Amino acid sequence: MASMLIAHFPNFDLAAWRWPHFSPRELACRCGGHFCAGDYWHDEGFLDALEALRTAPGREFLASLRAVECIGRRRDKLHAQDDCR
Ligand SMILES: [Zn+2]
Repeated sequence: MASMLIAHFPNFDLAAWRWPHFSPRELACRCGGHFCAGDYWHDEGFLDALEALRTAPGREFLASLRAVECIGRRRDKLHAQDDCR
């Protein structure tokens, strides 16, 4: 499994999960069910890089990560930006 979209992050099988500093919940879309059921894009190469960054010496404070956003959430944000102009 190299990369794939999981439409509902709790459905992801954690049996082979090897990134102790991350979880699908943390990386899933946070639209709260408004536009998706919790999209999670699983990409092992990306997770390997994130894990290395988060555990690198001097990087202990690299704690926050912006989650993946589904198309509906991105569109909603774009419309909100347009409304502010
Ligand atoms: Zn979403």
